[in-house]
Formats: sequence, structure tokens, C-alpha cells
Amino acid sequence: MKNIFKMIFVIILFCCLFSLTGCIYKKSSEKLSIVATNFPCYDFARSIIKDSKSVNLKMLLKPGVESHDFEPTPQDIIDIKNSDIFIYVGGESDEWLEDILDDVDKKKTKVIKLLDLVDVSFEEYVEGMEEEYDDEKEYDEHVWTSLINTIKIIDKLKDEIIKIDSSNKIEYEKRASEYIDRLYKIDAEIRDIIDKSKRKEIIFGDRFPLLYFVKEYGLTYYAAFPGCSSETEASAKTISFLIDKVKDDKIPVVFHIELSSSKIAKTIANETGAKVLEFNSAHNISQEDFDDGKTYLDIMEDNVRVLKIALN
Ligand SMILES: [Zn+2]
Repeated sequence: MKNIFKMIFVIILFCCLFSLTGCIYKKSSEKLSIVATNFPCYDFARSIIKDSKSVNLKMLLKPGVESHDFEPTPQDIIDIKNSDIFIYVGGESDEWLEDILDDVDKKKTKVIKLLDLVDVSFEEYVEGMEEEYDDEKEYDEHVWTSLINTIKIIDKLKDEIIKIDSSNKIEYEKRASEYIDRLYKIDAEIRDIIDKSKRKEIIFGDRFPLLYFVKEYGLTYYAAFPGCSSETEASAKTISFLIDKVKDDKIPVVFHIELSSSKIAKTIANETGAKVLEFNSAHNISQEDFDDGKTYLDIMEDNVRVLKIALN
């Protein structure tokens, strides 16, 4: 008798285990997967899918990490290949992807390259900038710094997400359109600030990944290095050029970008009395901000506040 009970117990246990693993397996295999390289790619997709139960979203870049130094793990490569949508920027910091993308089954994975969705500009060197020897002209990859570009990106991304998950079409359309409304609102605020401001010039004691932003709004800029430069030490010539610019044009704010040492900006500020503020180009965010759920829109709203100070 005892043995029969034991056997029944074991059978029940097995049944439970089987149905449980079956359940887990079914769930994970049914979930759609979107993989994004950096923070803007991730946040744009997140803004459309929100807490959708049917989609898994992964950012390859870890929060707080310098995005230009990114190296994929073997798991990252597997995740890219298994994804339903893979979103990347497509500029020089994504060169590591070339061979991996050749191996991706394009029938299974929709590959979205931000540089294909907007009009692109070449990297620029402006007066005073540290020159780096480059035999080839590269496209500036920071397309997301223009809110108008972001509107185009959201619109396209929403269409692609709906293609893989049409069951939530109405939700996705609603979120994308709310997001685009907010982008237009911030865009209008920026235009209003610039219209009414005393100056139309900004100075960065740092890299300058904001070419698309200044082009959109007709601002003049000076900076220590172009957008994706890996340099952090500026020459005395560059620093003194920027110091003279701040003094001559009575510039009240010297910017540095996010996750930067802000060393050059502080040096310029010490010599001129200008204030040091952060202008966030949204490449990536700190772990703390990530955990707080900070978004691209929050970052742009912060930028609106500092821009107002810098132009007045
Ligand atoms: Zn960059």
C-alpha cells in the first residue's frame, strides 16, 4: 500500500514538473524579441511596447558604460541572431556588427538601421577643433539628437513592431502618436527659446555629438573634438581657442556631455567665469537613471532647461 502511494506521489510530481517546464518553455518561445544596441534604440522601442507581455526587449550596452567602447558578449551575438527585430545606429561605433549582420537570417530578423531612416550628414570639423587624421569621411551617427529625426524613427519603428505583433496594433499606434506629440512639444519649446534668445551659439569643452541638433535649430557651435572622437586630452591650442571664444562672445555656459570627466569644460570655466553644465546627447545613461526609468524625453527636457541658460 505504502509503495502505491509513493508511486502516485512520484507520478504527480513528474506531471507537475512537466507541465511547469512546458509552461515556461512555451512562454519564452512565444515571446517576441527586440534587441537594441544603445540607449536611444532601446528607449524608442520601449516607448512603443511599454509593458507589453508579448515582447522581450534587451539593450546590449550596459547602463553607465561608454558606448564607443562596446564589445559584444557571445550571448549578445546569440540574442541578435534570435531576435525578431534588431535595432542599431549603423555608424562607425557599430563596425563590430558587420560580420555578425552577415550571419543574421533576414527572413527571421528585421534589421533596423537608424541611419537609413533619416537624412544623414558627414562628421564636421569646425574652427578650433582638435584635428584627427582620418583618410575617409564618415557619416555622423548621432541622428537621434535631432527630435525631428526621432519622430521619423518612432514612426517607422512602430510600423515594424506592429508587423511582428499585430495583436497590439492599437496600443502601439496610440503610444507612438503620444510620443510623437511630446517630441513636437519639446521641439516647439526649443524653437521658442532660440527665437527669443540673445545668442545662437553654444560651446562644448568636450566631444560634440550634437551635429543634428544644431543643424535642426540653426545654432552655431564650437567644441574640442568631433562627435565620436576617442580623444579626451585637448591641446593647449584648442583650449585657448575655446577660452577666447567664451570671452569674446560672452558665453555664459560651457557644456560637457554625459558620462564625461568634464575636465576641459572646467578648465575653460576657470579661466572665463562661465558656468559648467551638462548637455546630454543620450548615447547612454547612468545605472541610477536607468533604474529610475529615465527616458530620452526626460533627457531632452533637461537639455531644454540648460539650453535656455546657455543662450541667455
Ligand atoms: Zn557617439
